[in-house]
Amino acid sequence: MSQLSSRRRILKQGLMGAALAASPSYNPLAIAKPGRRKIGVALVGLGYYSRDLLASALQLTQYCELRGLVTGSPEKVPQWQQEYGIADRNIYSYETMHQVADNPDIDVLYIVVPTGLHEKYALIAANAGKHVWCEKPMAMTEKECLSIIGACNKNGVQLAVGYRMQHEPNTRTVMSYASSQPYGKLKNIIAKAGYAGGAPNPDNWRLSRKLGGGALYDMGVYPINAARYTAGSEPVAVTARLEVERKNVFKEVDESAYLTLEFPGGVIAECATSVGQNMNMLRANCTKGWYELEPMQAYSGVKGRTSSGVLLDKTVANQQARQMDDDALAIFHKSPVLVPGEEGLADIRIIEAAHRSNASGKRVAL
Ligand code: NAD
Repeated sequence: MSQLSSRRRILKQGLMGAALAASPSYNPLAIAKPGRRKIGVALVGLGYYSRDLLASALQLTQYCELRGLVTGSPEKVPQWQQEYGIADRNIYSYETMHQVADNPDIDVLYIVVPTGLHEKYALIAANAGKHVWCEKPMAMTEKECLSIIGACNKNGVQLAVGYRMQHEPNTRTVMSYASSQPYGKLKNIIAKAGYAGGAPNPDNWRLSRKLGGGALYDMGVYPINAARYTAGSEPVAVTARLEVERKNVFKEVDESAYLTLEFPGGVIAECATSVGQNMNMLRANCTKGWYELEPMQAYSGVKGRTSSGVLLDKTVANQQARQMDDDALAIFHKSPVLVPGEEGLADIRIIEAAHRSNASGKRVAL
């Protein structure tokens, strides 16, 4: 198969996954079989997101159990073991992580390290025969994303990207509008996600180009992903501008980014992202009305409304718990995950094109 047709196949699979996710009738929790053993999850990387969000969310899941840790910081281990009752046999370093292949306690390795290291550890996980849950953004390049997808396919393990918004009920309603078109044909989209962050320590990976820092990688995947699931199609071109306000802080990476995505049928998405300014909304303007989410990405409280007065105000007890339960059920049922690797790949293609557009000052066809 040519590289192009294999890429088309991969992107089609991604859209099929997104369509499944958007289907209002798809509720994996409803088809769960009670009484089955739980999915054993090992967190790879014990930084902010693992410590403050995922570990506690795992305690709220129905189908997962935090059973293992992979860390380069042994001093963190006793407290994690005490808090979550993790057995000594399930503690690994990055160097010993491949030995998880022999450990039946662990079903999933959840990759929560800096983005520039996702491919390295996702490959070790897949080659150990374990399912891979990979945080966003999936990786640094299209090539790395394809390598992760290839390793998971080769080893017959599942791959899910940590786009928690696609598990969030109001976001899923918006995703379903892409095909049901209750407000007519889509005309344009505005998608913005950013926060007014302080200056990170100079050695923080979020300032490193190689490790995946910068607004476009770290936060830009939210508006890009939102533009794609709102359009329900893949963009054909991108024009982008990357900016740095605090030049003494952001020496290698962008602080804000502005993208115009052109979708088939003339639909335009204006996307913005920043780690220096607060912004958080998604709006779709259509021929017969509009709908919007504000905030469009948050750990809780995502809500919205439509031009006909419909409130998008469903709640979910814990987004990460929902995400991990959805992904655990996909493992139990051997069914497609809601957010496959192809979703991460599609966004990274756009990010790479946005960097080329910024460098050339020109529109880049995809
Ligand atoms: P963090 O800096 O707090 O933690 C990163 C962890 O990776 C640390 O434990 C660190 O020790 C470890 N690490 C291993 N090798 C490293 C190296 N060479 N350099 C630096 N750290 C190294 O970062 P975080 O905020 O937890 O982010 C981790 C991943 O999770 C990123 O991919 C990020 O995009 C993602 N994330 C996702 C969400 C979400 O809402 N889905 C939120 C925050 C972070």
